Amino acid sequence: MDWSHPIFICLLEVIQPQTNMQEELNDNLKNCFEFFKRQAMSSPSMEVVGFLGLKDEKPVAKMVKNRSPDPKNYFAVDPLETLNFKSEHDFLAIFHSHIYGDSQFSEWDKITSDNCMLPFLVYSLGEEKFNLYIPEACEVSSVNLERLKDLL
Ligand SMILES: [Zn+2]
Repeated sequence: MDWSHPIFICLLEVIQPQTNMQEELNDNLKNCFEFFKRQAMSSPSMEVVGFLGLKDEKPVAKMVKNRSPDPKNYFAVDPLETLNFKSEHDFLAIFHSHIYGDSQFSEWDKITSDNCMLPFLVYSLGEEKFNLYIPEACEVSSVNLERLKDLL
């Protein structure tokens, strides 16, 4: 087999970015935040999305695909992916980046966070900072919410 054939080179180029891109991090919360920040910075033209949770008390940050048809301005996650993560982790927050504007939450962000009863963590590329929205009815314990707030 000739691996220098253009079709193989083309395949390698398609596969390469995915294998290079780290998609999950198991580390302390501070490093999970740093991980989200790096992911946001590596995608200046599209909002990135991730899940933050605890597995056996240990923080896990996991990137998921932004399924919004308008990923420059919105994000959407696959409900099944969300449920899968929820079944294996204590959910702490849903993360997404803002590529335009500040770290303030849009009405859509707030409504969606309220509906899923999970905090939203955002990183603004423009402001270079995180922000956290906590819904009124929230599934996350106050102790864990304080841990998140401490890192803003
Ligand atoms: Zn947003």
